[in-house]
Amino acid sequence: MEQVGCVVIGAGVVGLAVARALALRGRQVVVLEAASAIGTGSSSRNSEVIHAGIYYPQGSLKASLCVQGRELLYHYCATRNVGHSRCGKLIVATSDAQVAQLQGVIDNAAANGVPGLALLTREQARALEPQLQCVAAVHSPSTGIVDSHALMLALQGDLENAGGVVVLNTPLAHAECMQDAIILVAKDGTGLKAKTVVNAAGLQAQALARRFAGLSAHLVPRAYYAKGNYFTLAGRSPFKRLIYPLPEAAGLGVHLTIDLGGQARFGPDVQWVSSPECLAVDPARGDAFYAEVRKYWPALEDGALTPGYAGIRPKIQAPGEPARDFLIQGPARHGVAGLVNLFGVESPGLTSALAIGEYVCRLL
Ligand SMILES: Cc1cc2nc3c(=O)[nH]c(=O)nc-3n(C[C@H](O)[C@H](O)[C@H](O)COP(=O)(O)OP(=O)(O)OC[C@H]3O[C@@H](n4cnc5c(N)ncnc54)[C@H](O)[C@@H]3O)c2cc1C
Repeated sequence: MEQVGCVVIGAGVVGLAVARALALRGRQVVVLEAASAIGTGSSSRNSEVIHAGIYYPQGSLKASLCVQGRELLYHYCATRNVGHSRCGKLIVATSDAQVAQLQGVIDNAAANGVPGLALLTREQARALEPQLQCVAAVHSPSTGIVDSHALMLALQGDLENAGGVVVLNTPLAHAECMQDAIILVAKDGTGLKAKTVVNAAGLQAQALARRFAGLSAHLVPRAYYAKGNYFTLAGRSPFKRLIYPLPEAAGLGVHLTIDLGGQARFGPDVQWVSSPECLAVDPARGDAFYAEVRKYWPALEDGALTPGYAGIRPKIQAPGEPARDFLIQGPARHGVAGLVNLFGVESPGLTSALAIGEYVCRLL
């Protein structure tokens, strides 16, 4: 049986960032990816926003890894020529009742170490974005956007330059945790012995972890799936910055994001589904988008939105339960030498990817 130093399961943005970080430390790294290309999971079905780190609870992994990851990501994009823009975002209060919440947003951001947030009056906000309707807004200058696919290609390039490989079309079927190594068996029966294994299988991470003999099943959280649907806007974006309503229970509200080509999209909404395969966008969900978007952009015309794409958030809490943090379990938690499981890596996972890579290296 072939032996390798480290195996990372999953070539999404997080798996690739972890693999790169390990390879840059001189480790021999193989990434096993079930699909025929990198980044076909949540990593290509998101808003491509570089989050500032505003809303997450103080002291959480989401807060600290987002704040660290954001600056690492801006620096990485600049040095590796990955398309990105520090375009900023406005969080808008669309009724008097919401205005008080904006100060809470600023206070939470400050506690997380996010600089530069400013409370704007309606006039100040409209000076920045003339089409915006709001009572007041918060401006976040360090929020931005990134070309997530270019980012993943750059991460893969770094990994390969450091001697690592990505093996496509190779779903891992199961594994056995031994005292000094982990035996991995791919669906085609190929076996691999690794000293270190990182489970970055995204929506499949829990199902896969349950197929690791020797890992306590009670430590693997139940998986829940919160789909986010997007609708795209024909023509150029009416806004230069990202526009967000105040956050809601399971998501950040139906917001407007822009891609690097200036195309606007609205979403994601929140639709709890029973399977991670439910990726079709139901056009009927668009009706609710019109009402939500017109709260901050009344000029949205009937028929202007078309169904876009959907992504699924890998939740580890049931609908209605309080939001949970990223759950990154290393040997100190589960007792299996050389294994790290990444559960619940929803947003801001893209922003945090480089910081998660560093964090996982420290756990190992
Ligand atoms: C709707 C939505 C919007 C989001 N918006 C943002 C945002 O704007 N900003 C932000 O920072 N974050 C955002 N996120 C979060 C971000 O997209 C994710 O945190 C990130 O993409 C997770 O990357 P990953 O590598 O963990 O998972 P994935 O990208 O899902 O990759 C997992 C990989 O594992 C592979 N795999 C699965 N099972 C196996 C197996 N058995 N063997 C081998 N390979 C396997 C899959 O094929 C897949 O390629 C959003 C997420 C969603 C769903």
